Amino acid sequence: MKLAIIGGDGIGPEVVDVAMNVLKAIAPKNEFEYESTPFPFSAAHFLETGHILDDADIAELRKFDAIMLGAVGGLPNDPRLAGGVIEKGILLKLRFDLDQYINLRPVTLYPGIETPLKDKTSEHINFVCVRENTEDLYCGLGGIVRKGTPQEVSNQTMVSTRFGVERCIRYAFELAKTRDRKHLTLVHKTNVLNFAGDTWLRAFQEVAEEYADVETGYHHVDACCMFMVAKPEVYDVIVVPNMFGDIITDLGAAIAGGMGIASSGNLNPDGVAPSMFEPVHGSAPDIAGQNLANPIATIDSLGLLLRETGRIKSDPEAIKCGEQIGAAVKLVTPKFSGKNLDRSGYGTDEIGRMVIDAMGG
Ligand code: NAD
Repeated sequence: MKLAIIGGDGIGPEVVDVAMNVLKAIAPKNEFEYESTPFPFSAAHFLETGHILDDADIAELRKFDAIMLGAVGGLPNDPRLAGGVIEKGILLKLRFDLDQYINLRPVTLYPGIETPLKDKTSEHINFVCVRENTEDLYCGLGGIVRKGTPQEVSNQTMVSTRFGVERCIRYAFELAKTRDRKHLTLVHKTNVLNFAGDTWLRAFQEVAEEYADVETGYHHVDACCMFMVAKPEVYDVIVVPNMFGDIITDLGAAIAGGMGIASSGNLNPDGVAPSMFEPVHGSAPDIAGQNLANPIATIDSLGLLLRETGRIKSDPEAIKCGEQIGAAVKLVTPKFSGKNLDRSGYGTDEIGRMVIDAMGG
């Protein structure tokens, strides 16, 4: 398997290094062969060279089976990075150009991790969000006129194509079919967004007819926020448009223990371009270079990379490595019991070592 590695900024390269050490330890045991190639794309690289990420870079990345990304972004108030230059220039360009149309985010409370939701355990918090990743308000459709005047007008348009919506919903049904509960909830705001919502709801209902074994439900996004906090056990798989998905998956990360634990994948499930995997957190400039970052979210994202890319490329050794990494993380998380995950007192490298030990060294 050919892996492109984008460490990025801040703690990004630190947590990715630790995750790649985990892979180095587990790969030979499963006869899994891989090569990894580093790429410099980051805010720091942009500030140093003026280069962000162009079409030639995308063509180069297409040659890989998957991309492992740490985090990109400099200091939040740096005026040289204003206007979302890095977010649009790197993250959105990768997702859009490589047609990574699913954003997959597991929300699982691991053993030993404390949730702010009193009385909820790993039994209650165990669902996956399937977020549409290439449409909606993220298309950049809209504009601003008479800027800076009292007559200023701006608009930003929500885009839902039947093609884009349906392929995302199909992925979610396929995923739900493989899980024990086989339950899928559509989250939208159909009562107010009655055009975009209508496209989603009809596609959902029509595709549902092909999946008699999957039970379905619908929640408005505001009700979903309430349920995620009050009764997260109602969810198994959630399918959701891009903007609402961005918001509810951060809430998901919070109830499952915080940013240090939240993993994600930007998937091109058809395998025509590489998928990209990354922790949900950013580059955390406040703790960069201090061996303080928790690498669990990145290690778990690497596990997801191996399982998903292994499935797409029919590579059983990769799937085995991914499953062993996932299992090892669940053996390590009880050691965080009662601790703040983001400031656990364990060093970044020490946590990596704990995962390698849990896999048998
Ligand atoms: P952040 O996620 O980087 O940090 C928020 C807080 O969480 C900080 O206090 C940080 O110390 C802590 N934290 C984050 N990850 C941690 C970890 N693994 N272990 C321990 N503590 C951790 O968010 P931010 O401060 O809003 O953003 C910093 C930079 O990251 C910005 O430039 C932003 O644009 C960028 N960013 C990038 C991505 C991405 O690459 N996908 C995502 C979010 C933010």
